[in-house]
Amino acid sequence: MTEKQNTAWSRRRFFKQSLAVSAGMVTISPTTLLASPAPTESKIWITDLRCAIIKGHVVIRIVTNTGVNGYAMAEYTKLYLKPFVMFYKDYIVGMDPTDVSQVMMKIRRMGSFKPWGAAVSAIEIAMWDIAGKVAGVPVYKLLGGKVRSKVRVYSGGGKPAMTRYDPAEFASVARWVKEAKEGYTIAKFAIAFHSATPNVVPDFYYGAPLSPANSAGPVPKNVAHPYKGVLTTKGMKHIITCVEAIKGVLGDDIGLALDLGPGHSISDSIRLAKALEPMNLLWMEDLITGDYTPYVMADLYRDVTMSTTTPIHTGEQIYLREHFKELFEKQAVRVIGPDPADVGGISELKWVAEYADLHGIQMAPHGVADGLLGLAALVQVSATMPENYIAFEYPMSSPEWYEMVEGLPDPIVTDGHIAVWDRPGMGVDIKVNVAKKYLSPEDKNFFD
Ligand SMILES: [Mg+2]
Repeated sequence: MTEKQNTAWSRRRFFKQSLAVSAGMVTISPTTLLASPAPTESKIWITDLRCAIIKGHVVIRIVTNTGVNGYAMAEYTKLYLKPFVMFYKDYIVGMDPTDVSQVMMKIRRMGSFKPWGAAVSAIEIAMWDIAGKVAGVPVYKLLGGKVRSKVRVYSGGGKPAMTRYDPAEFASVARWVKEAKEGYTIAKFAIAFHSATPNVVPDFYYGAPLSPANSAGPVPKNVAHPYKGVLTTKGMKHIITCVEAIKGVLGDDIGLALDLGPGHSISDSIRLAKALEPMNLLWMEDLITGDYTPYVMADLYRDVTMSTTTPIHTGEQIYLREHFKELFEKQAVRVIGPDPADVGGISELKWVAEYADLHGIQMAPHGVADGLLGLAALVQVSATMPENYIAFEYPMSSPEWYEMVEGLPDPIVTDGHIAVWDRPGMGVDIKVNVAKKYLSPEDKNFFD
């Protein structure tokens, strides 16, 4: 058939079908009218969405008609998440989970900043697990392929508990990091407003820490990192002395990052960042916003970034690429730390990483509470990130999960890196027979 004949045939078919539509014979969209040949039916579709709390971790399962399952975890800090996950079930049942973008276009608008983007993120990650298994390839192949065969991780959580928050205690924790079997090459320390320092060090800032003692009745639950205010001179010097103590132990062998907030004033942020320039920090995280603040404040971050050579970082609470746009275009930060379990999933994170790279901004994804399934998702996406990738935060897990998951390297971390594995999907499987014994009565049908 010539091009002319083909065009004439298409026109005839369009008019014939249009007439049929106008006569009320069929219901058909204009897009379908122009499609040739008719689309083939999906052979895989979502039949169920489930959520269970298993040994302290939020686990979701997407069930399909073919018997292929997708699994993912949300942060273990969100044990209340189950009803929020189930909210999306009616929107996704019947859809093809391997058309990840199509499902996401439908549900991504119904999420928000941490913690309310977590359910959408977990669904996205579980769909990639299915897509990889169906294609018979590791997920990194579907995200563009491997840029690196091992991914660097950094030490975030899991450090010994602190009580004094003084230089000697920080130095002692730094020695623990240095001796850790994982061989970390980067360590992040929680300090200042991102620690209990304001409660422990007298006159640390011009404010009053939230305290159970302030309760009029029953002791209410407190928010994490509740501080906001102006540092005293004593407080400022305390932070600097503690950082010097950490750096004195880590030396030049282990890169140092700090998680400091949120809650610092702009002037304190600038003073602190400038004072710590000789420490050659990898980044200062969430000085102003972060964690559970549902906004970005790019202009304020830009003021700090433009005033210091210390790299300024934010982003673990941010949901979707759209909310990074202003940070990037204003050059407001030098490093960002979105968490795949909050940002909207791994393809969202990959997109953000590419856009960050176009703006000279580095990637250090958050992940401390993502568990072992979150670890697998972080490995897959981090393998595909451009050269702005620094490291992701090594996730913590309850001990039982190490016997419930197979497919991880043993040991998981060697010389501060994780070797990227090649099994299909996320490349890790839940040993159902083992996991079943940890199911609560409420979740007893999770694996059925
Ligand atoms: Mg943080």
